Amino acid sequence: MSADPSSQKEPSGLRPLPSVKMALLPNELRARRTRRLLLGAVIGAIVLGVLLLWIARSVIPNAWAWMEDALGRQDAQLAADLGVNDGLLPVDLDAGVEEELSEDEALALARSRPNARYETPFGGVPSFRGALLNAGLEPDECTAIERALQHIVDFRRCRPEHKLIVERDENADLERFEYHPSATEFVEVTRGEDGVFRAEQIRVKVERTPIARAGSVEISIGDGLLELGLPAGLATFFVEAFEGQINFAVQARKGDVFRIVVDEERVDGEFLRYGRVHALEYDGQRTGKVQAFYYQAGGTVGQFYDESGRAMQGGWLRTPLRYDRLSSRFNPRRFHPILKRTMPHLGVDYAAATGTPVWAAADGRVTFAGRRGPNGNLVVIRHSGGFETAYAHLHRIKSGIRPGTYVKQRALIGFVGSTGRSTGPHLHFGLKKYTRSIDPLTELNGPGLRMASRNLPSYKSALAEWQALLGGIENVPVVVAGADEPLVEQVDEIMD
Ligand SMILES: [Zn+2]
Repeated sequence: MSADPSSQKEPSGLRPLPSVKMALLPNELRARRTRRLLLGAVIGAIVLGVLLLWIARSVIPNAWAWMEDALGRQDAQLAADLGVNDGLLPVDLDAGVEEELSEDEALALARSRPNARYETPFGGVPSFRGALLNAGLEPDECTAIERALQHIVDFRRCRPEHKLIVERDENADLERFEYHPSATEFVEVTRGEDGVFRAEQIRVKVERTPIARAGSVEISIGDGLLELGLPAGLATFFVEAFEGQINFAVQARKGDVFRIVVDEERVDGEFLRYGRVHALEYDGQRTGKVQAFYYQAGGTVGQFYDESGRAMQGGWLRTPLRYDRLSSRFNPRRFHPILKRTMPHLGVDYAAATGTPVWAAADGRVTFAGRRGPNGNLVVIRHSGGFETAYAHLHRIKSGIRPGTYVKQRALIGFVGSTGRSTGPHLHFGLKKYTRSIDPLTELNGPGLRMASRNLPSYKSALAEWQALLGGIENVPVVVAGADEPLVEQVDEIMD
């Protein structure tokens, strides 16, 4: 026990002799074993990771290409079946099928060749320089390009799908470079006489051609648009333009006919997207025929107007959200199925998914925002003319919405929820005039304002053009009187 420290010194590489220290040895061994295991696990994980990455790199692009190809074929087939592919959709059956050089091979080939022009995607690299190097530029070329672009391109906004184009001269020296962040604009960098690269922002000319189509409603307008080869999302324009006249959830019928004039946008003849919606018509059994035309009067925000030049959207949003269905109407003498007594329903219930944005129905000042008993999270807004709107059962009230806040029409005030006395996510929308509750559905459908008379002549001539296009559509389906039932099932649910 009273050993001199020097005597404890052991020859290196040898296990310590049994001693008082012996009790520690198993622990030491265990620790060493654990360390070794850990190291092994880390190395194993790294090897596995690299392997997985390698597999992913080689398999995923193939799977992706295959899927795109398959989808492309499906679209083409669909379009062919519907007979709508009169140059509307860019369909290239051979895309992705032909044999291609591997990226590296193509690049190596291009780089070695004078007068080459080649295109590469920005790719999943963390820096602009990385993308330039991947595109086959030499480090000094990268520096020159970066310098030319530094005040023009926000390098943080580069996305993997952006395109790079490299052009080399007869000596295979870099002559031109293009960065394409979108289909409608790009930045061109060219080498000047002095050898310095200079950048210029170029806007691609987008050709816009208004196309007119007509379809009929089977399940929904969106579905009818898809049948025409148009995006279903255009249905929103019908809902919003006719907000003051039509409540589609109640009035739309199977067999109703719609017409639309929308810009088809192309770049170099290649389909890009659908742009501005110019004209809409809805002809239904319950709604009659209504038309709306988009117009931007000088100095104002563009919006939809009727034939006479009156704005389609009035001082009120008829519905303060995009809802799935009307689940309960205004009814001052409703018999409550649970409470077994007459209890008025002083508002309209719109069933919608939790989290659906709720907008202010008109400009006004918030008078209440918070929890209030069976109403759950409630927002109350006071408007001009003695009106007041209430939005109950909100999942969440938007931050910043508090008593005294002034809100503009369509300002986001909260999100649909099921707080308070509620059996499912919905918005209870109430309207009062001088403290008396009134039915929002009958009250909030007034027409909007007339446009200034000085704009009328120019509006009328635009209108004539759009009406001619609407009228010139061939093979318009006939409005069929079908079963007189709303497209959307109307269920009177127990919701307050
Ligand atoms: Zn309600």
